[in-house]
Amino acid sequence: MMIVMKPNATSEEIEHVVARVRSVGARAHISRGEEVTLIGAIGDREHVQRLELDGAPGVAQVVPILKPYKLSSAQFGGGERSVFEIGGRRVGGEHFALIAGPCTVESREQLLETARACRDGGAVMLRGGAYKPRTSPYAFQGLGQEGLRLLAEAKEIYGMPIVTELMDVRDIEPVLEVADVVQIGARNMQNYTLLSEVGRAGVPVLLKRGLSATLEELLMAAEYVLKEGNERVMLCERGIRTFETAYRFTLDLMAVPVLKQLSHLPVIVDPSHAAGRRDLVMPLSLAAAAAGADGIIVEVHPNPEEAICDGPQALRADEFADYAAAVERAAAVAGKVFAAA
Ligand code: PEP
Ligand code: MN
Repeated sequence: MMIVMKPNATSEEIEHVVARVRSVGARAHISRGEEVTLIGAIGDREHVQRLELDGAPGVAQVVPILKPYKLSSAQFGGGERSVFEIGGRRVGGEHFALIAGPCTVESREQLLETARACRDGGAVMLRGGAYKPRTSPYAFQGLGQEGLRLLAEAKEIYGMPIVTELMDVRDIEPVLEVADVVQIGARNMQNYTLLSEVGRAGVPVLLKRGLSATLEELLMAAEYVLKEGNERVMLCERGIRTFETAYRFTLDLMAVPVLKQLSHLPVIVDPSHAAGRRDLVMPLSLAAAAAGADGIIVEVHPNPEEAICDGPQALRADEFADYAAAVERAAAVAGKVFAAA
């Protein structure tokens, strides 16, 4: 249930409603909008209904949240889009976040050279994997703790917030030391214990859509993070499995406007993993930006031919600035401006 407070409701009245919601064993999630405060009561609907909060002081109305996902629903956003801060950068709303960097941290030189090109080109955050989900257990699995140390160094030098993947709850401590955003990979989208753990950690999350997950399943996964009181979740479309074999995955760009109708959360697009090929990254990026995506996460490498992982899809670092300028123009079509670095 969602309790809509009156525009002039006092903080005592809000606290009173929260206490009553909790008294029946439900969780109360407060969302303070520009005009009104909404309280999401997540728990047994009948118990909450029996409280008859319609009549409580400061309450405008009590309405059911109809979707199975609650806190991530557009309804709970009260018609407003989520805008939040990550390392001093704003994400969501009219802000466009360009996140760029290597697939995998391979070496100090590779990471720092990529980071410089990304920062100079206008990227607001640096991506880079230290723990890699690889299809083959015999493939390079990432530098682990050494990769995290190099990311910390790149952050120190270039001042960019870091986006890096967490695959296993056992690595959460060292990852949180450097990550400004924890990436949950497509293969872990339904790892519910991992989702709850990053929810409790309170760190911003980039949640990638599973290879064959529906939008509803993606939003239910986001719900696991949100229900722990962590509001900073970005949804990421990265391509899904279809019958088409001409490219690696099918980038579902319809997910951008539809997710934005279903949810208040920012929507990021990953053209690199969908395409699997460099030549498709630019057209997909322009289309994503023009479709209203809140950002793009893209792979970049100084020398893709020698990349250990995902080289064929990586943009060349020396071409990144031109790429970013084109994406900026496409984002402007959708009324978005690049988040200030
Ligand atoms: C990645 O970002 O490098 C990655 C492995 O992505 P995904 O989980 O979408 O495959
Ligand atoms: Mn990759």
